Amino acid sequence: MTIIKKIKDNFFLATVALIYVIIFIAKPAMGMAAVKSSGYYIKEMLMIMPVIFVLTALLDMWVPKEKIMHYLGKEAKVKGLFLSFVVGSISAGPVYAAFPMCVMLHKKGASLRNIVVILSSWAVIKIPMLLNEMKFLGPKFMAVRWLLTVIAITVFSWIAAQIIRDNDLPKAAPAPSGLHLNKDACIGCRLCVNSYPELFGMEGNKVHPKPYKILDRVKLKNAINACPVKAISYPENEEIDSSDPRQSQ
Ligand code: SF4
Repeated sequence: MTIIKKIKDNFFLATVALIYVIIFIAKPAMGMAAVKSSGYYIKEMLMIMPVIFVLTALLDMWVPKEKIMHYLGKEAKVKGLFLSFVVGSISAGPVYAAFPMCVMLHKKGASLRNIVVILSSWAVIKIPMLLNEMKFLGPKFMAVRWLLTVIAITVFSWIAAQIIRDNDLPKAAPAPSGLHLNKDACIGCRLCVNSYPELFGMEGNKVHPKPYKILDRVKLKNAINACPVKAISYPENEEIDSSDPRQSQ
């Protein structure tokens, strides 16, 4: 039962493993080539992704939600489109590195259309790619291809935004029910973040709850006690017992 549940929980991984086994049995040489190729990409991901996660976390911490909404949100219109093209074009690295950053940008208010533009330009009109294209295929080819691609991305991002809704994207885990943060009172001292960085973050100079899986009551109690302006509260009937960590979901 446990194995079946594990396979169900990791259906995609299990399917890939099964395909590998079938290839190995049918064509061992092809199986070896597939393993070598996968090994190469896994090594590449292990080198790139930690840097991307750190950069994403820093952006999450330092860039306030209001700024993301202003420059990349639905109301940003042409300015948002232009900036999305710039962000995608000046990026480096494979496109899968863009996914964690795009999740963070969307969480902070970037529109779906601008997310599509960032991902698409990251994939096909990055500046290093354009320079290589110009070197090998000539400036005219590069310029025409760039122009047509920008037009296509602009059109297709609009269509994508008509089909996909914000609610279609996976949702972050909610803040603990009953946790109340008085943002007007918050003075941005970060003491709660220091006490419980997994649950509290900052947006600009105001506290903001982060997605969480397991509520650590000891850390929550420390954060509540650390707040100099008592901006964090938790229902009295949910008395925080330091010896009883609660499983939220
Ligand atoms: S400790 Fe209180 S005042 Fe300081 S950042 Fe956290 S909520 Fe705001």
